Amino acid sequence: MLRTLPVDNLIRLNMKPMADINCTFDQHGDPNGDRLLLQALWDDLRARREFLTSPYLPACFAFFIHILLCSPFLVFEALGCFWPRMHFYRISRNAEPLGLCLQRWVDCFWRIFIKYLTTILPASALYQSVRNPIFPELAPSWRVLIAEVIACLLLFDALFFIWHYSMHRVPWLYRIVHQAHHQNRITFALTAQDASPAELLSLQVLALTSAWVVGCHPLSEALFHLLNTWLAVEDHCGYDLPWALHRLLPCFGGAPFHQAHHHVYRGNYAPYFRHWDWLCGTYLRVREEAGRKHGGRTMRRRRRRKSLGSDCVCMCTYNKA
Ligand SMILES: [Zn+2]
Ligand SMILES: [Zn+2]
Repeated sequence: MLRTLPVDNLIRLNMKPMADINCTFDQHGDPNGDRLLLQALWDDLRARREFLTSPYLPACFAFFIHILLCSPFLVFEALGCFWPRMHFYRISRNAEPLGLCLQRWVDCFWRIFIKYLTTILPASALYQSVRNPIFPELAPSWRVLIAEVIACLLLFDALFFIWHYSMHRVPWLYRIVHQAHHQNRITFALTAQDASPAELLSLQVLALTSAWVVGCHPLSEALFHLLNTWLAVEDHCGYDLPWALHRLLPCFGGAPFHQAHHHVYRGNYAPYFRHWDWLCGTYLRVREEAGRKHGGRTMRRRRRRKSLGSDCVCMCTYNKA
């Protein structure tokens, strides 16, 4: 949205009107702001407006990005079948042969693919054909981009917490909408979107609502959707990797936090951050963290011992905070 200076003020200041000097200010940042690279990227995207407004693009893009972000974890799992040390950071151990591991991924892939084809694709195509996408001339500044993405993540986290908590508290809602997602007690990256069509749609609605309420620039919205997909994959990946976001920023729950929810079917309802569960008394503390505080040796020893053990050993125990 463009904002112009009042003409009266310009005449008083002996300046030319806005249209003459072609000077515009944008609510998404100051004109001399740090948006040099962003502007080039945004100009490039604007030139492909026809393609970007295709009704089938959002669903196809969401599906392929999800598969792409999951693929490194498939490599981890496959290598782990031959080389158990690859499972060093795995939260729950699945000592299963490669065939079984791949079968789980293939089954999950087809379940998600069919739901996208029959529900997400038609619904998002319908939404795209009725909405009127806006392509402002200016890109946001880096500061605005980061602020808008953080605001979207915080809002989505709060909305999802309420929705997720409600699904667990209302039995028919759980049965119809959420139960399909809990068929995976031990999660792997692809299971982030292994949910009922109603739940997948509801997550899209919550994400779009968050971006709409924040009123963010389309570039910020795209980055938010991308981050949203990555965080969901990381939550379900089943690995507590040293470079995971929750290790760098402790306000994030990460994979151990969400895996605890899948293990005990309650608590840790927020998707990304810890604060709502902590404030509402639904926070499940992962006991594994205690071991790490003392140099992580206890857990490492336990992992080594159990890596030689049973078919499926849960490495975590949970306490209510
Ligand atoms: Zn989950
Ligand atoms: Zn749940």
